Amino acid sequence: MKIVRVETFLVAPRWLFCRVETDEGLVGWGEPVVEGRAEVVRAAVDVLAEQLIGQDPLRIQDHWQVLTKGGFYRGGPVLSSAVAGLDHALWDIAGKAYGAPVHALLGGAVRDTVRVYAWVGGDEPARLADEISAQIEAGFTAVKMNAAGRTEPLTTPAGTAAVVERVAAAREVLGPHRDVAVDFHGRFTPAGARRLLHEITPLHPLFVEEPLLPEHGHLTASLAASTPVPLATGERLYGRAEFLPVLSAGIAVAQPDLSHAGGITEVIRIAALAETFGAQLAPHCPLGPISLAASLQVAFCTPNFLIQEQSLGIHYNKDADLLSYLLDTEPFRFTDGHARRSTLPGLGVTIDESAVRAADRAGHAWRNPVWRHADGSFAEW
Ligand SMILES: [Mg+2]
Repeated sequence: MKIVRVETFLVAPRWLFCRVETDEGLVGWGEPVVEGRAEVVRAAVDVLAEQLIGQDPLRIQDHWQVLTKGGFYRGGPVLSSAVAGLDHALWDIAGKAYGAPVHALLGGAVRDTVRVYAWVGGDEPARLADEISAQIEAGFTAVKMNAAGRTEPLTTPAGTAAVVERVAAAREVLGPHRDVAVDFHGRFTPAGARRLLHEITPLHPLFVEEPLLPEHGHLTASLAASTPVPLATGERLYGRAEFLPVLSAGIAVAQPDLSHAGGITEVIRIAALAETFGAQLAPHCPLGPISLAASLQVAFCTPNFLIQEQSLGIHYNKDADLLSYLLDTEPFRFTDGHARRSTLPGLGVTIDESAVRAADRAGHAWRNPVWRHADGSFAEW
């Protein structure tokens, strides 16, 4: 079997899909994207595809070596995300060739259901409470919320109180048997994060995500030592070498993104690395159906898996949502806040190719907003 064609599709709301075709008619799908830089990743996929045409798709480990290292320059979000999407597609093809789900090829299932969480917005505590109630009604047992929108590097007492009030409102609706994760989004300075972690500690968040920007990763150890709150990070880290320092520094939850951190092949290794630190895996996934399918395949065969993000109804999903490009939505029908293990071959999702091709004709030019502080200076989004 040989790879004969690699195509990419720029589809709403802000995603990029790739399709790898073989001479035997087997097709694999992947999701290589950096949100806001999809066109750049598309160009990277086109260049990397030169290494795959004419090759046996089943030699995934070897392709991963060539794709990540064969160009001499390596790593970073664009190249690692391009490799990630191609890696998804190769695993999808392998599963279809062997007639097995990807998690079976990776050693078999260690669980039959995967706990997923839902994103909730709401600037006002009352509106947030309503959104959480709706997710509880839908069966979810955990939600994730942003701590704050645009924020000053060090907040006023009122700014701090607003964050605490919203997390408290979430805790009140959720009760003691459900979870809330809080995303700092790297919006606070290290000192600001330390103060906020202290303030929300009694509310017992499942974890606090990106308390520090990636470039402040060297401060992780002191922050982790200053708080009992489990710290999570990883959506802006692109391989196991970048996870080693933050795991060594004491993060509790590793959050590689299946579309950014070298795909299934590398995230499995990141999970194994995290296991040696007693850390759990919670893959980042505010993305599309292929990225989520790849995440679930990892979750089903990873012992130290904690919880999975998914983007159903997330604020980014305008014009298309998680289920828009699927012929069969069953794999993402969550029951009691859990995805059920499927035995479908490959990634376990059936892509609606004509919908994807139609969406690509329209394309998209999604960009994240650029925020400014009141004085006009740049603010972290
Ligand atoms: Mg995040």
